[in-house]
Amino acid sequence: MIEFSSITKVYDNGVHALKNINLKINKGEFLFLVGPSGAGKSTFIKLLLREEQATSGKIMVDGEDITKLSQRQIPYLRRKISVVFQDFRLLEDKTLYENVAFAMQVTGASPKEIRRQVPMMLGMVGLSDRAKQYPHQLSGGEKQRVSIARAIVNRPIILIADEPTGNLDPDTAWEVMKVLRHISRRGTTILMATHAKDIVDVMQQRVIALEKGNIVRDVQRGIYGYET
Ligand code: ADP
Ligand code: ADP
Repeated sequence: MIEFSSITKVYDNGVHALKNINLKINKGEFLFLVGPSGAGKSTFIKLLLREEQATSGKIMVDGEDITKLSQRQIPYLRRKISVVFQDFRLLEDKTLYENVAFAMQVTGASPKEIRRQVPMMLGMVGLSDRAKQYPHQLSGGEKQRVSIARAIVNRPIILIADEPTGNLDPDTAWEVMKVLRHISRRGTTILMATHAKDIVDVMQQRVIALEKGNIVRDVQRGIYGYET
């Protein structure tokens, strides 16, 4: 479903951030992307989102080489590939319901679809009864769950989570992990970049480790594998 073939990224300053990456990601997989700072994790994510362009190689997403997309086509890619961030990035002046609905409105969804889909998504992340509240009324874990609901409301094929538990305490982090695992079991691929050793070790999912721009490990039911 997603395949990197001979992907290399060299930044303008000459840094080789990714070196000849080859990788296949299947539908519904849960993957952790790990590695020391500077290993190339963010670059990997940016190439998938087309925030950066590869220097060479191709990236097939759903049958299409996304390195070939024009600027005009990129918004469509961002519906297939959705992302949540460490800092949530919710709209503070909108309720939870409105935060999730807004993501559908910008894609031109009908009011009817929105009324159907938004409550379903809030239910999936366990926040049905909080729909009318504002982000400032929520805990960090709840904010992250809203941001996940918003990210999946347009049914992406892959959800990228960039350090999604980085701002959360351990208990809250596990609430977020349960939501992510639930979503992956329903068929959405999850790619989570993280330094959370305890989470990676307990979850026992596929682990891809990057170091200096190379994949140095790719293991099913893997562990974090670094000292923290
Ligand atoms: P990670 O997310 O694993 O910390 P990055 O992908 O951010 O790794 O960085 C990989 C390498 O590319 C590092 O050496 C970093 O300094 C370099 N790098 C990242 N972004 C840029 C950029 N915009 N311009 C130049 N070098 C960059
Ligand atoms: P399931 O839904 O499969 O019954 P849970 O969703 O309760 O299991 O937990 C998922 C995984 O996360 C389990 O492997 C469990 O050990 C781990 N886990 C859940 N909560 C915590 C926690 N607070 N601290 C450490 N590990 C946890």
